[in-house]
Amino acid sequence: MSGVLDLARPEIVALTAYSPARWDPSLVRLHANENPWRSAADATRAGLNRYPEPQSSALASGLASLYGVDPAQVTVARGSDEGIDLLLRAFCAAGRHEIVICPPTFAMYRFAAAVQGAAVVEVPLREADGFSLDAEAVIAACSAATRLVFLCSPNNPTGNLLDPAAIERVVSALSGRAVVVVDEAYVEFSAGGSLAGLLQHLPNLAILRTLSKAFGMAGARCGAVLASGEITGLLRRILPPYAVTVQTIEAVLDALDPHRLGESRQQVARLISERDRLSMQLARLPLVTRVWPSEANFLLLRSPDAGRLLEAGIRGGLLVRDVRSQPGLGDCLRVTVGTPQQNDRLVSSLEAA
Ligand code: PMP
Repeated sequence: MSGVLDLARPEIVALTAYSPARWDPSLVRLHANENPWRSAADATRAGLNRYPEPQSSALASGLASLYGVDPAQVTVARGSDEGIDLLLRAFCAAGRHEIVICPPTFAMYRFAAAVQGAAVVEVPLREADGFSLDAEAVIAACSAATRLVFLCSPNNPTGNLLDPAAIERVVSALSGRAVVVVDEAYVEFSAGGSLAGLLQHLPNLAILRTLSKAFGMAGARCGAVLASGEITGLLRRILPPYAVTVQTIEAVLDALDPHRLGESRQQVARLISERDRLSMQLARLPLVTRVWPSEANFLLLRSPDAGRLLEAGIRGGLLVRDVRSQPGLGDCLRVTVGTPQQNDRLVSSLEAA
């Protein structure tokens, strides 16, 4: 026992897991009140008339080998959004506990905290230093009520990697005090690697991964929390037993086929070169005063008239993200890298502004 469960809600630690209908594909299922016949519209291999395997072992093993961890360290969920929600519910009691976030950052951490009734403490990234992580300020901001610290690397919407040594410093310093959640949703687009290798030594680390970005499967809703066996056991206990659908299990297992993995890596490489081309083109626009370097599949830009750029995009039939409400980004937009044609269209639409 590493003691990380002392940080979790005791009622969740003590919870008896829901016991779903036994999973044994060698036996005929007359125990789950399913329909014995398939729908004519059912194109799956397993059959949608049957419940999926609770916490599909094939999916957990496939993602474990993809991410270089043990299957017992993987919780598969409906996107990393659900991973964030599970962590909040497992570790934060409403009205008692708090999380630490480093704005500007992904809005879901704050949202999930609000749903759970957890307070949010902010330690801004250092804009003047390329939105770098202030490790000592994060450590100092953690109180006895802190349960989770969310660090996003590469960060959304700023696009930069956080220094891995600074992240490791935060995790080590908060050992026994808080779980540090590193969100690696965009890590495949970056020059840095995953911090999953640290999980062995740092039991208070949890890592979020997703199939929504580099794998092009946002519609499948599949993500994973990588963490110690203790944290994984806890999260699996509160995840609904049939969270991940048969279609998603099959689609993701197909995507993990070595040939498809190779194709996906090529797609990521193409996207990275498009990102660099788009970045140069956006930087030349008269209404764009800054484009930040990006390690993700999007670019953050600054403009003295971001509103006009937004409207020009819409006139050209394109949506870009308004991030002006985020701290420090009052004049900024976030642009997702599209196909070469879409990017060209974006540039010419914004030129027209
Ligand atoms: N983390 C970050 C940083 C994100 O930007 C997103 C999606 N916008 C997510 C997690 C959620 O991804 P999903 O739920 O699709 O896995």
